[in-house]
Amino acid sequence: MNTYKNFTVRTDADGIALVTWDMPGKSMNVFTEEVMDELNAIVDATVADTAVKGVVITSGKSTFSGGADLSMIKSMFTLYQQEKAANPQTAAQKLFDLVGRMTGLFRKLETCGKPWVSAINGTCMGGALEMSLACHGRVASNAKSVKIALPEVKVGIFPGAGGTQRVARLADAQSALQMMTTGQSLSASRAKAMNLVHQVVEPDQLIPAAKQMIKDGLKPVAPWDEKGFKAPGGGIWTPASAQLWPAAPAILRRETAGNYPGALAILKCVYEGLQVPFDTALKIEQRYFTQVLQTTEAFSMIRSLFISMQELGKGARRPAGVPKTDLKKVGVVGAGFMGASIAYVTAAAGIDVILIDRDMDAANKGKATGEGLVKESIGKGRLTQEEGVAILSRITPSADYADLKDANLVIEAVFEDREVKKDVIEAVEEVLSEGAIFASNTSTLPITGLAKNSKRPENFIGIHFFSPVEKMMLTEVILGKETGDNTLAVALDYVAAIKKTPIVVNDTRGFFVNRCVLRYMAESYDMLIEGVPPAMIENAAKMAGMPVGPLALNDEVAIDLSLKILKATVADLGEKAIDPRHMELVSRMVEKEGRFGRKNSKGFYDYPAKPAKKSLWPELKSFYPQKKAEGVDVNTLKQRFLVTIALEAARTVEEGIVTDPREADVGSILGFGFAPYTGGALSYIDGMGAKKFVELCETLAASYGLHFKPTSLLNDMAAKDETFYGRFDPYAKEKEVA
Ligand code: NAD
Repeated sequence: MNTYKNFTVRTDADGIALVTWDMPGKSMNVFTEEVMDELNAIVDATVADTAVKGVVITSGKSTFSGGADLSMIKSMFTLYQQEKAANPQTAAQKLFDLVGRMTGLFRKLETCGKPWVSAINGTCMGGALEMSLACHGRVASNAKSVKIALPEVKVGIFPGAGGTQRVARLADAQSALQMMTTGQSLSASRAKAMNLVHQVVEPDQLIPAAKQMIKDGLKPVAPWDEKGFKAPGGGIWTPASAQLWPAAPAILRRETAGNYPGALAILKCVYEGLQVPFDTALKIEQRYFTQVLQTTEAFSMIRSLFISMQELGKGARRPAGVPKTDLKKVGVVGAGFMGASIAYVTAAAGIDVILIDRDMDAANKGKATGEGLVKESIGKGRLTQEEGVAILSRITPSADYADLKDANLVIEAVFEDREVKKDVIEAVEEVLSEGAIFASNTSTLPITGLAKNSKRPENFIGIHFFSPVEKMMLTEVILGKETGDNTLAVALDYVAAIKKTPIVVNDTRGFFVNRCVLRYMAESYDMLIEGVPPAMIENAAKMAGMPVGPLALNDEVAIDLSLKILKATVADLGEKAIDPRHMELVSRMVEKEGRFGRKNSKGFYDYPAKPAKKSLWPELKSFYPQKKAEGVDVNTLKQRFLVTIALEAARTVEEGIVTDPREADVGSILGFGFAPYTGGALSYIDGMGAKKFVELCETLAASYGLHFKPTSLLNDMAAKDETFYGRFDPYAKEKEVA
C-alpha cells in the first residue's frame, strides 16, 4: 500500500489497484495542485508496478468530487494580472501552460497503457467528470444523489480539461452542446443514455462492477485513439450536422444574448475540435480556455458566484468569537403566504417549528401549505415519503403564544402594518426566554423603528426572505441601530441551517435588494412613458442579461404593491420623493383598469388559463404615443437597466448600508438575477472601470434624467481610478492580521 495525502491505493489479489480519493479535512474532493501531483505520481507508480493490471478510481466521501478548486483558478487570474503589466505575451503563455496542466495529466492517464475505470459513487462534476471521461471505463451508482455535470459555464468558464472534446466524441453533438452550454446535471441513467458512462449499478455493486470491467479485458485505449474512429453521427461533415451547426449559434444567442464568452467557446471547441485529431483538438480547447480566462466575465463570475457566495455562506460576516447556536426550536408568527413557507424551509432543515396565527384555522392553513410543498417534492423525487412525513411532523400549528416560550428564535411574518407588528412583538416578548432572538420579515418597515416596540432591541433583527421562499437562495439580514453581535450570529446560524446565502445590510428604506429592484421597475415606467414599445422593454432587459423583464417582474410582485409603496413614500418623504408620472401610470393600472399583476391574472401581461402562455396586455400600447422600434436604440435600453441598478447599489455603499462589495454582488444576482455574467451590480462597475461608468452615467443623465447622475463616491473613484473591491476591500482585516 502506498501512502499519499489525498489518496489511498490498495492492490488486490487480481492485480487491480483501488485508488480512493479522500481529502483530509474537506467535505468534498477537489482538484488542487497537490491532488494533481499525487494523481500524476499514482499514474507513474501503477504503470511501473508490474503487479498492477488495471486501476479503479473512486471516492472515499459520499460525493465523488466537485471538480477543480476554483480558488486555484482565482490564483491563476491573480498571477496573470500581475504578469500582464510587465509583459502581456509571457503572461498569456504562462496562463496557457498552467491551463494545460490538467489536460496533460488526464491525457497521460488515458494513454498510460493500463486500463483505468472511474467508479462514480456520488456527485461528479467539472474536472472530476473530465478525469472520469479520460478513464477507459465508467461505472456509476444508481443512487438518487448521483449527479453528473460539467457546470463550468455557470461560473463564466467552460470544461477546459478535455471535457468539450471527450463529451463530443461520446455523445451526439446536440446533446453534448446542450449539456455543456447549460451546465445541466444528469442522473446516472441519463448519463448512460448519452453514452457518458458504461454501466449503472446498485451502490454496493459499484467497485465489483468496476473491477469486473478490467477482469473482462477492458482495452486501455480510448475510442478516439483507435484507427478509423468517427464521432457519433459521423462528425461535422454529415447531413445531420448540416442541420445542427448553422442553427447552434443562433440558439445559443437566443438563450444567452451573446453575454457568456464561456458558452460560445464550447461551440467553437466542439466544432473545430471534431475536425482534427484528438491531441490537436485538446490544444484548440486549451487556447480557447486561456482566452476565456482572460475575460472580465470569467473573472467576475468566479469571484461572485463561487468564491464570494461560498465565503458568505460560510459566515464571512458572522461576528468572530460568538459560539455557534444549534437552533432546536423556531417560532414563526403569521402563517400566511410568507410565514407558511418559512415554517416549511425551517422544518426541512431539521428544526422544530411552532407556527402561530390568529386562530387555529389560519395556523392549520399555513401547515397545509407545507403539506403541498412536501407533496410536490415527493412527486419530483426530491424527497422520500418518510422524509416528507418527518418534515411535517416538525411543524406544530398553534394560536397560543405561550408555545413560543422555549424557542431560540421567533420570526414574524404578519401583515405589513406597524400597529399589528407592534402588538405581535409585545405579545411574543411576554413569553420569550431571555437571550432568544426576535426577527422581522418586513419588506418595507425600517428595523430600527420596529425595534422601538421591543424591550430588548439588541435582540431584534431583520431576516428578509424572498418569494418563493423554498426556491430563492438569498436572505437579507438587516441590522437595526441597536442589534447586537450575538443576535447577528444567531440569525446567520439560522440562515446557514436552512442552507441559504445571507447578506448583512444596515437599516434603510427597502434595504438593499428592494431598493435596486424598484429602480429596475421605475426605469421601465420611464420607458413606457417615453413610448418605447412594451415588448422592446422586456426584450432589451433580457438581452442585458436579466432573467425576467421589468414588467413581468412587476406583475409577479403585484402592481398594487407598487402603488402602496409609492403612496407610502409620498406619505413619509413628500411628493418630491417620487415621479408623479409613475404614480399616474401605476394608479391607472390598479385603480382604473383593475390590473394587479399575476395575482388577478391581469397586469402588464394577460394571464390566460394554462396551457396558454402569458402575453403583453395589448391595451398598454394605447397609454402613450408609441415610438417606432427602429427609432429606439436597444443598446441604450440595455445600459439604462444595468446602470440604474448599479448606481443604486453604489448609493447603498456610499450610504454605509452595504459595507462589503461581495454582498452587493451576490445579493444582486441571487435576489433579482442581476445580469450574472457581470458578476453583480458592483462588479459591473468595476469591470468597465469607474471612469468609464461615470462617463456613461453622465451621457444617460443628459437624455434620460438626473437619476443617472453619478454620485460623489463614483466621481471620486473615477478620479483615483479605484474599484469597489479595492476601496472597500473585503479582505482588508485579514490582511492586517497577516
Ligand atoms: P399574508 O397576508 O399572506 O400573511 C400574513 C399572516 O399574518 C396572515 O395569515 C394573518 O392571519 C397573520 N396575522 C395577522 N395578524 C396577526 C397576529 N396579530 N398574530 C398572528 N398572526 C397574524 O402576508 P405575507 O405576504 O405573508 O407577508 C407577511 C410579511 O412578510 C409582511 O411583513 C411582508 O412585508 C413580508 N414580506 C412579504 C413578501 C411577499 O412576497 N409577499 C416578501 C418578503 C417579505
